Amino acid sequence: MFDTHCHLNFQIFNERVDEVIKTAKAVGVDKIIIPGTDLPTSKKAVRIAEKYEGVYAAVGIHPHHVFEVYLKVRHHVFRPPHPKGTQAIVSKQVSSLSSILKNPKVVAIGEVGIDRHYYQRTKHENYQVNQELIDLQKQFFIEQIKLANRYRKALIIHNREAKKDVLKILTTNYQLLTTHFSVFHCCGPDEELLDFAKKNNIFIGVDGDITYRKDKQKFIKKVPLEMLVLETDSPYLSPFKKFPNEPKNIKVTAELVAKLKNISLKEVAEKTTENARKLFFI
Ligand SMILES: [Zn+2]
Ligand SMILES: [Zn+2]
Repeated sequence: MFDTHCHLNFQIFNERVDEVIKTAKAVGVDKIIIPGTDLPTSKKAVRIAEKYEGVYAAVGIHPHHVFEVYLKVRHHVFRPPHPKGTQAIVSKQVSSLSSILKNPKVVAIGEVGIDRHYYQRTKHENYQVNQELIDLQKQFFIEQIKLANRYRKALIIHNREAKKDVLKILTTNYQLLTTHFSVFHCCGPDEELLDFAKKNNIFIGVDGDITYRKDKQKFIKKVPLEMLVLETDSPYLSPFKKFPNEPKNIKVTAELVAKLKNISLKEVAEKTTENARKLFFI
């Protein structure tokens, strides 16, 4: 099986990466992708991927982490102001991903997108979601779509409470999406997203939360098996609502998908692995 989204680069897994990968492999999870959420976690994803067979990295700046740049822009840390304003700052931040992107273990740009969720628990004091932040997230998203296109990498799309923004950006930049594949990671149960995905060859990521989300169970029944990839989003979204989640738990998701689609676990495991290989050119 293939866990296409697992944050082994997060602090909670420090000292445990070896063990977590080993236990995952023991239950048949032999491929893992570690997405970055900012520059340090992207670099860490690459470092871990280099060490293990079957483990790959994605590099990217997550929309939630755009807040760090937003604060700097707001407090004028970037001085003197560049004539091109924030666009120059965004380009510089995104181009810092280019050097690590050349590593052969990097298979995607991610996770990137738009996130309008108001996080209660975040390292950022005074976290706020306002138009300025969303505008900056949009600039980052577009710039990173271009990066994926330039380096012919897959794109891992994060969308939280921001369907309209995400679909608009993808539609506007449609020509950039045509040379590589993308995935709606942790896809919400939404017909419009599914229709868009069908039309544009975008894969749908399914996570452990389908064990307790009836709306997602209903949704997954409608998603063709050819479009599905499995992911844990570890350490989050445990099928048992326990923290931290681990890639070995992807089997629980695969079993439920098999039950919902009335097919065998073997078929789900094989087809989703094949899909993930196609998505990430592995
Ligand atoms: Zn995400
Ligand atoms: Zn994630």
